[in-house]
Amino acid sequence: MIFYKDTDINKFTLSFKGQREKDYQAYYFKSSLKIFRVAFLFVALLYGLFGFLDSEIAQEHIELFYIIRFWVVIPLLLSVFAFSYLKIFEKIWQWLLFLSFIVGGWGIIIMIVKMPENITYYAGLMLVFSAGYFLIKLRFIFATLAGWLTLISFIIAVIWYSDITYELIIAYSFFYISANLISMVAAYYIEFFDRKNYLLTNQLNQKKAELEESNKNLESEVKLRTQALADSEKKFRTLVEKASDIIYSISSNGIISYVSPNWTALLGHDIEEVQGKQFIDFIHSDDVNNYLNFLRKISEPDKKQNYVEYRIQNKNGDWKWHVSSATPQFGEDGKVISYIGIARDISERKHAEKAVIESQRLSAIGEMASAVAHDFNNSLQAISGNLELALLKPSIPKEIKKYLATIQISATDAATRVQLLQRFAGKKKNASNYQPVKLNKVISDVIVQARPMWKDEMEANGLHISIETCYEDIPEILGNDGELRSVFYNVVKNSIEAMPKGGKIIFKTGVKGNNVFVHIIDTGIGMNEEAKTRLFQPFFTTKGFEAGRGLGMSGAYSIIQEHKGNIKILETAPNQGTAIEISLPLTIKESSLEEDDINGNSFKKGNILWVDDDAMIREIAGEMLQVLGHDGVIAENGYQALELIEKRKFDLVITDIGMPDMNGWRLAEKIKEKHFGKIKVAVITGWNKQLNDEDKMKYGVDYILVKPIKLANLKSLINNALSSE
Ligand code: ADP
Ligand code: MG
Repeated sequence: MIFYKDTDINKFTLSFKGQREKDYQAYYFKSSLKIFRVAFLFVALLYGLFGFLDSEIAQEHIELFYIIRFWVVIPLLLSVFAFSYLKIFEKIWQWLLFLSFIVGGWGIIIMIVKMPENITYYAGLMLVFSAGYFLIKLRFIFATLAGWLTLISFIIAVIWYSDITYELIIAYSFFYISANLISMVAAYYIEFFDRKNYLLTNQLNQKKAELEESNKNLESEVKLRTQALADSEKKFRTLVEKASDIIYSISSNGIISYVSPNWTALLGHDIEEVQGKQFIDFIHSDDVNNYLNFLRKISEPDKKQNYVEYRIQNKNGDWKWHVSSATPQFGEDGKVISYIGIARDISERKHAEKAVIESQRLSAIGEMASAVAHDFNNSLQAISGNLELALLKPSIPKEIKKYLATIQISATDAATRVQLLQRFAGKKKNASNYQPVKLNKVISDVIVQARPMWKDEMEANGLHISIETCYEDIPEILGNDGELRSVFYNVVKNSIEAMPKGGKIIFKTGVKGNNVFVHIIDTGIGMNEEAKTRLFQPFFTTKGFEAGRGLGMSGAYSIIQEHKGNIKILETAPNQGTAIEISLPLTIKESSLEEDDINGNSFKKGNILWVDDDAMIREIAGEMLQVLGHDGVIAENGYQALELIEKRKFDLVITDIGMPDMNGWRLAEKIKEKHFGKIKVAVITGWNKQLNDEDKMKYGVDYILVKPIKLANLKSLINNALSSE
């Protein structure tokens, strides 16, 4: 459809401009066609019907009048009617109508001329005028033209061809002119309003189309917006539902109105069990106040606190640590109506934090234990040294000797404990430090060490755990015995903890291919699939939330890895017990010196210098050397020792490590600088022997003697030093 902007109508011809006029004419033709056809038939009928009148009042002209009516005018009207069915009609129809008007008019004019005295024919012309102007759909301009032409024709005809009086001609003309004028104006307005109407309809259609167009746009816009809204809604929903955090909403009085599905995943409750409940009912009573304070704070304008940590109970009744942030939603009155919060499980982090604190605490305790053990060793040295010497005296009565022997056993026990303590302190981790380790012995030590757990506590509760060992004679392996001890300690601790009602633990050792293996088999609660796969993960525990939990097996795993070995589950199932296998690579056996007794060797007397800052030890040392039959000189510090070495010849210097001013290592270094290959040096340590191995190499020390010193160990060391000269 074409729409027009300007509404100009030519006031005179009533035509529009250009294309619009063409469109209007097409429209006018279309809307007029039916009316025109009916009108033409009607007019033709009337024109014929008036023939009856002719036969009544114009008998003398009847032939002429019938010719006009039935051979000219009516055939013309019917031809035009018929012609209206041809396509070309639209182009010329107004001219044909115009022609019909005039011919119809002229027909009547002839009749008037022939019968000027009869008024009927004058009225006939009036009918022609009214039909021409109003009935047949002739346009205003054509109708006007035809009207005036007919009128002029009438005037000319009556003046020239009839003999009626001028008064009458003027009177009739007066009527016709008036009728013409009235008709002209009326036709003008009819067409004018038709055109106006056309314009308005056109504009209306235009507006309608515009409206439809914008409606369409609006619809597609709305569709797009709705889609976008749905998309973003979906996005946010997925975000909320797939988030690893819990998203929740609570009313101002604390009732849960929404929780994301993750609640179920993290805490186990079904959503229905949570919605409508008080949020703080799930929170640990010690943390409820914290949480409420948090809500209060975030509702204040300056909003200082942005998160809160609290414990929340899961469906199983366990407590989980959560951290949550939240935002208040304000109503129109500025009061809080609800809170939207995001909560995250931080149990693992809390766990780790506590574990770190605990491990720091443990390592501090370890340091302290080592220091205490060191001092303790010196005291034990004094006790057992003196005891050994006392027992050698023949003059001591028998019953006293019995008491002394008992004291000595206790002192030896105490020394073993101190040694274990030192091993557990496990100071350095360094594979180059690895020493031959007797695994069977390590295991036996661990069993003793763990005794309070599996024996004393259990039996106090009327329960019983038995431990069986099934050792093969396995070769020594290279490793750090302190670390290995902690591995077995943790494994056996787990086994004991898995048997709260008592049971049995079996240790089995043996050789398989190039490996030494240890099996630890218990009759405990066993492990489910999850525990089986997560056993070696740090912080994995099924023993509830407690500091330092879940580190035993991960620690064991890394120690065994460092030893190039392997630790794995052989068998386990819920309530079927557990079997763990640890295997470690075989290495060449190295003989360890201090434990070897060199009994029966031929005796050599040696010159020995002993350096110690502790007077009590110096005293025992002197006596020990004397008992062993060597010539001993005692010095109380490094400088004194160096002076003595300059004056006398010594085969061996035995020195304490921890001394003020010049320690044992420095002294050894000095001696080796001058007398390398001539004087052997042994250092005495209160610490674990391995710890000093690196220094031993560095300062050229030949032997390390561990406190408390036993006479037998001292004897074999001296023999060794003298015989290897
Ligand atoms: P913790 O003993 O502190 O829980 P561990 O790392 O030593 O940590 O052990 C991790 C978990 O492995 C234990 O919580 C337990 O579930 C499981 N586990 C370890 N050893 C055994 C065993 N012998 N029997 C049953 N479960 C065990
Ligand atoms: Mg454990």
